[in-house]
Amino acid sequence: MRILLVEDERRLAQVLARGLGLDGFVVDVANDGRAGFLLARTGGYDAMVLDLMLPAMSGLEVCRALRAQDVVTPILVLTARDAERDEVGSLAAGADDYLRKPFRYPVLLARLRSLLRRSPLVGGDVLQVGDLEVDTARRAVRRGGRDVPVTGREFALLEVLARAHGAVLSKEAILVAAWPGEADDVNLVEARMSGLRRKVDLAFDRRSLETVRGAGYRLVDDQAAPL
Ligand code: CA
Repeated sequence: MRILLVEDERRLAQVLARGLGLDGFVVDVANDGRAGFLLARTGGYDAMVLDLMLPAMSGLEVCRALRAQDVVTPILVLTARDAERDEVGSLAAGADDYLRKPFRYPVLLARLRSLLRRSPLVGGDVLQVGDLEVDTARRAVRRGGRDVPVTGREFALLEVLARAHGAVLSKEAILVAAWPGEADDVNLVEARMSGLRRKVDLAFDRRSLETVRGAGYRLVDDQAAPL
């Protein structure tokens, strides 16, 4: 998925772009509002992370201008600490969500994924990885046309992996994205993963949920021809 990051603090932009890249996103960075607006206007992005205090054009102006031109790309705004007025203002200007600086990267990632989950632009209701179908409207899983009963937590975990399009996700990233605010123990990810694997893979003699040692997990089409 393509993300546009508009942030004039170069160091922060660099760190975020690198993190998002590792989490499987394709990231373009604009360092001022005007450049961000021009890129966003192409409509080629699945979501946008937009700082408010920017040279050339403020984040609020960018937001308003995009919405005025019917660009519906979901926008996550970054606001300064204690700037409640900016938060309300950005929602009024057409942003979808906001995050207060300073923030931790996993929180940004979780907000962004949640924004993408709600986005009408992103995919249909059914995420497909090989013959595995993750139906986000019915919250149901099928493999080769057969229903696979999973728990709510297992479903959330599988959905996060399916949306990553084969990228490796760390346990911490999965934890925050799958169950935001609910749990802080990465062992939970391991426990749910083993349950999920039993149902989705072992029951079908398959290996689509991969462990990448020292890095995390990914969901792949294990029947795809090797490159
Ligand atoms: Ca700024």
